[in-house]
Amino acid sequence: MASPVLLLKEGTSRTTGRDALRNNILAAKTLAEMLRSSLGPKGLDKMLIDSFGDVTITNDGATIVKDMEIQHPAAKLLVEAAKAQDAEVGDGTTSAVVLAGALLEKAESLLDQNIHPTIIIEGYKKAYTKALELLPQLGTKIDIRDLNSSVSRDTLRKIVFTTLASKFIAEGAELNKIIDMVIDAIVNVAEPLPNGGYNVSLDLIKIDKKKGGSIEDSVLVKGLVLDKEVVHPGMPRRVTKAKIAVLDAALEVEKPEISAKISITSPEQIKAFLDEESKYLKDMVDKLASIGANVVICQKGIDDIAQHFLAKKGILAVRRVKRSDIEKLEKALGARIISSIKDATPDDLGYAELVEERRVGNDKMVFIEGAKNLKAVNILLRGSNDMALDEAERSINDALHALRNILLEPVILPGGGAIELELAMKLREYARSVGGKEQLAIEAFADALEEIPMILAETAGLEAISALMDLRARHAKGLTNTGVDVIGGKIVDDVYALNIIEPIRVKAQVLKSATEAATAILKIDDLIAAAPLKSEKKGGEGSKEESGGEGGAGTPSLGD
Ligand code: ADP
Ligand code: MG
Repeated sequence: MASPVLLLKEGTSRTTGRDALRNNILAAKTLAEMLRSSLGPKGLDKMLIDSFGDVTITNDGATIVKDMEIQHPAAKLLVEAAKAQDAEVGDGTTSAVVLAGALLEKAESLLDQNIHPTIIIEGYKKAYTKALELLPQLGTKIDIRDLNSSVSRDTLRKIVFTTLASKFIAEGAELNKIIDMVIDAIVNVAEPLPNGGYNVSLDLIKIDKKKGGSIEDSVLVKGLVLDKEVVHPGMPRRVTKAKIAVLDAALEVEKPEISAKISITSPEQIKAFLDEESKYLKDMVDKLASIGANVVICQKGIDDIAQHFLAKKGILAVRRVKRSDIEKLEKALGARIISSIKDATPDDLGYAELVEERRVGNDKMVFIEGAKNLKAVNILLRGSNDMALDEAERSINDALHALRNILLEPVILPGGGAIELELAMKLREYARSVGGKEQLAIEAFADALEEIPMILAETAGLEAISALMDLRARHAKGLTNTGVDVIGGKIVDDVYALNIIEPIRVKAQVLKSATEAATAILKIDDLIAAAPLKSEKKGGEGSKEESGGEGGAGTPSLGD
């Protein structure tokens, strides 16, 4: 009595071989197609409406793919690539997705010519490796040995300017203010590397937004700012040579997990009970004082009674500080976060020259300056409303990333599609030296790269094909920095002259993310999708090609 072998659960759909591959390619291409029009300084915005009806309008590739709630597994691989791109370098997400889409599109026509996916994958990998090798040769090394020299500062200015030019609406004095703050912040935290670049830990740069005033009133504090007041009027407002206890424990009597009932029958008992509580708090405060703390910064609450004892000891205290700030403080102050006060030691304390409460607008904030680890800085952003503040913050983050990328690897590349075109040309030469079927795959990689200048040309109002021909002809003549001037709507021979530049790190990462995503998708030849859990929906049973994408209203469902 042989019964059939059931390998997969009932309701599982399975697509294999070329069908699976085509289906995946289609899904990924669809996503890339959607992002195409958002590329470059004249990229169009997308309006996204989430399941709660909240609307986001953006042309930032990372935001778009994160908000889209993609269902198709292959398209999700592209989303992951975009996220990786964003996390690594904070830029180039649209390019990465668009390039991955182009690589897959070109791969499709190779599949049509009966070229096996493994050959395409090998060819793509070779092309990628070669491209990485070529990038530094095609770039320009910039001299930033002395970050405070006017030459370096000028270069950094140009880079920030380029980053902000396409996004930020501010101009004139406001833009200058932002640029100066961002450069000062970065220069403060940069640490030299052996390759002539600098390591920059963006964790050390904190951005605080405070409504009121205008962008021009923003300040860079060489230290940290906490958007909190000193908790008790009896405490000092200013402590120099501060020894700071950073707590993530509460200075409160712990509330029992279960609600216990205490029967108190006499006034003496009440007193005893309260005494007990306040003794507990006093012990904690005494302990902090005994290890030498004169400032206490607490993530959790500080009870009134504890505040009173702290004030009596002349300790300045701040409570309910955000976890992320607590972690920054730990680094900046050279402190160790104290979780259990009774085990605290003097070694846990951090140090700063000055802790002071100051008035900012209508509020009070606590400034920590001259920290033990002097590198931490705080950008205190001012602005008339939340939208202006958020926008300024996003731009500053972009600018910080751009500078970090340049400092880590001080090489710039010509933007506006110039570098892609030059790479494509060089890769075609290389392809000929490789020969065989892989040659075709390497050439396909080159074709895919040319999609970037073509899209930029389109957004500039040019005709894509003739722009491409023009670009190719000029590059063939040795004009390696010829690219699309999207704003001016024309092809120019030197994009550097227009400040259309890109950090090498961003481009290298774009190539990496796109190649990885495309080859990962090409490797899949079997798509096994479990039946959706919520299968109350009637009909459509076993429709073979379906995989996920049961797209409710507002959810783009790809690839079906
Ligand atoms: P991404 O998410 O990939 O960073 P962007 O919308 O920032 O997408 O577009 C980046 C592309 O636009 C790069 O290829 C860059 O060289 C190009 N670019 C930026 N500014 C200009 C410009 N003024 N003229 C032409 N191309 C530009
Ligand atoms: Mg960008």
